[in-house]
Amino acid sequence: MLYKTLRKEAFRSVVEAILAGSEGVGPRRVGTDRRGKPIHQFLPAERFEDMDFSYDTTEFSAKTYFLPFREKLSTYRFTDGDWEQEIRYRAEPRALIGLHACDINALLRLDKVFARDWYPSPYYLSRRRNTFILGIDHDPCEGAFCRALGTDTVTHGFDLFLTDIGESYFAAVGSDRGLALIEGFGAQPITDEDSHRYVAERKRIAALTENGLNLNNLPNLLDIEFKSPIWAKWGAKCLSCGTCAMVCPTCYCHGVYERISMDFREGAKIRQLHSCTLVDFAVVAGGHNFRPTPESRLKYRYYHQHRGFVEQHEEPKCVGCNRCGRACLAGITPVEVIRELQEEVGP
Ligand code: SF4
Ligand code: SF4
Repeated sequence: MLYKTLRKEAFRSVVEAILAGSEGVGPRRVGTDRRGKPIHQFLPAERFEDMDFSYDTTEFSAKTYFLPFREKLSTYRFTDGDWEQEIRYRAEPRALIGLHACDINALLRLDKVFARDWYPSPYYLSRRRNTFILGIDHDPCEGAFCRALGTDTVTHGFDLFLTDIGESYFAAVGSDRGLALIEGFGAQPITDEDSHRYVAERKRIAALTENGLNLNNLPNLLDIEFKSPIWAKWGAKCLSCGTCAMVCPTCYCHGVYERISMDFREGAKIRQLHSCTLVDFAVVAGGHNFRPTPESRLKYRYYHQHRGFVEQHEEPKCVGCNRCGRACLAGITPVEVIRELQEEVGP
């Protein structure tokens, strides 16, 4: 990894240069919640002023810019006894500006599924490769448990990642295009003093993020607690609404279906995100539902996040952003569920 420093005054120019060359998406304030706290979303932005980089978190993640809720994979048309198919990939340059470490780590999880697994998705890859990512460090947000999962810091998966060290930013450079960009705005080699300031700032943020949660043995704990009554307790509250998966930056489960025109002359293959907590998620041909109760579906979600994904990809799928906990109308939060499971088995 290459590190540079960037003067604070140059930040605006860097962002404006990005916006001049690509479609920009950044954290925008869209309202306030009932406590008066600002609500932010990652939305298209044309000007520096459109974005609020002091944001805490966003309600939805940036997943939609790589894995949209609904996406046309191909269209096809039958004519004169033959047929033709059209497949389009999004190749226009886009920049995601102001992503936090957990959200970049979430993209690295999606990379494992859609870019590095046996069958890479060209739809995902074209978006990922054509998206410039400028990340920024931040103080922890409410209810997040990123530190327990090691996702409060990020080492790759971005073009630039900035940490505020006083009069300048400590810039981690993750790509040639990131380096070329900040070199045009007077980026400097780091000094020992810059490194000390960076370490001090990371220590300050880490202390704020610490919440005493230890998830080291969580996969084993889940094996032991498969029949725990705690699943019935939280399952009884679950509304099976699917909101948790929709706001989650790493939930990628989806289905693919065909939509055919009434005259059978044209059709489309469509991918649409699904949620494992929805009642029909595990319904198979013939109508049998392998997970007919909210309890079984909620439990499955936790096991995929913290058990199955670890077995397949050597780290949890969850990055600890607590978007699911904040959005859940039933008040189900991952930290509470996990703490209860831990308390049940004891120290
Ligand atoms: S856990 Fe909460 S958000 Fe998720 S499906 Fe159940 S009620 Fe909805
Ligand atoms: S499961 Fe919840 S806390 Fe974990 S990444 Fe998804 S939304 Fe964030």
